Amino acid sequence: MKLPKIREVIEAVKALIVGPYTSKFPKVPHKPHPNFRGQPKYNDKKCVGCLACEEVCPVGALAHKDITDDKKNPKRLMIHYTDTCIFCGQCEAACISDHEGIKLSNDWELSFFDRTKAEETIEKELALCEICSSPVACKDHLKWISEKIGELTYSNPTLYLSRLKSLGIIDENIISALRDDGRSDRAKILCARCRRETTLTTK
Ligand code: SF4
Ligand code: SF4
Repeated sequence: MKLPKIREVIEAVKALIVGPYTSKFPKVPHKPHPNFRGQPKYNDKKCVGCLACEEVCPVGALAHKDITDDKKNPKRLMIHYTDTCIFCGQCEAACISDHEGIKLSNDWELSFFDRTKAEETIEKELALCEICSSPVACKDHLKWISEKIGELTYSNPTLYLSRLKSLGIIDENIISALRDDGRSDRAKILCARCRRETTLTTK
């Protein structure tokens, strides 16, 4: 008969005194270790919709869709594909919003039956270009930039108009979609292409 090794005997005696290492899951809920790296979760109060996390995700588990059919309520849908994520934490590390827009949680019980439902989403309000209606950035992102750069905000009409709108100082619904190729085009919320064109072509 093969005799047990000394280490195994010590482990067996220890288990008799302090109890087994294995948990009684699923009878008893499993408590993950405090440093456990589980599924990342968006925090819609903190996320500004900048897409930095999407850029760094190594497996394409993050994506977005800009929904602009309703010009009065354009939105960016931020999507996390939970079946693709490898819980590497790169998104949290790259998050510009104090690493709190998306954070690893201790959520580990992730089995599901329908793979098409393996996604979590949040919505962010979008600002559209007042000339071509293409997305400029999320409103929270423009606010974040303006808070970061302080008075330099006044050097960029897109930033200061967005700021005035978010503060309720000018009407949110003043959208001048007509292009006049004149000076007034420069004082609008514009995408980079329209800003370049108005700057170069303004008479
Ligand atoms: S934890 Fe890693 S794989 Fe998962 S969404 Fe974040 S960056 Fe992508
Ligand atoms: S704020 Fe953070 S979570 Fe939100 S899009 Fe940017 S990097 Fe991603």
